[in-house]
Amino acid sequence: MLLLLIPIAAIAVVIGVNFGWQWVLAPLLAYALLRWSIASLRVLVTDAKDLGADPGAATPVGTDERTLFWCEECGTEVLLLVRGSSRAPSHCGQRMHERTEILN
Ligand SMILES: [Zn+2]
Repeated sequence: MLLLLIPIAAIAVVIGVNFGWQWVLAPLLAYALLRWSIASLRVLVTDAKDLGADPGAATPVGTDERTLFWCEECGTEVLLLVRGSSRAPSHCGQRMHERTEILN
């Protein structure tokens, strides 16, 4: 890597002295911005994957109980069929309340 940097630095100095340093600094800046934006996007994609991760944790709800989530704001009720995670779903911008009814 260091052996590659020496000729690149020499070429950069030659270009900078002969044509002006903007021809050296602008591509460097563009490269840095490109690396930074790709790294930012990669973090977003990794976060999204982590949220929906662990599909083995998704277990069907047992038949002896019925779990409902209800929204305090508008009164919507949602019946839970398969539990993917322990977090309650959101509605109207807030977490829904969980209510479990035990059937006989
Ligand atoms: Zn709601």
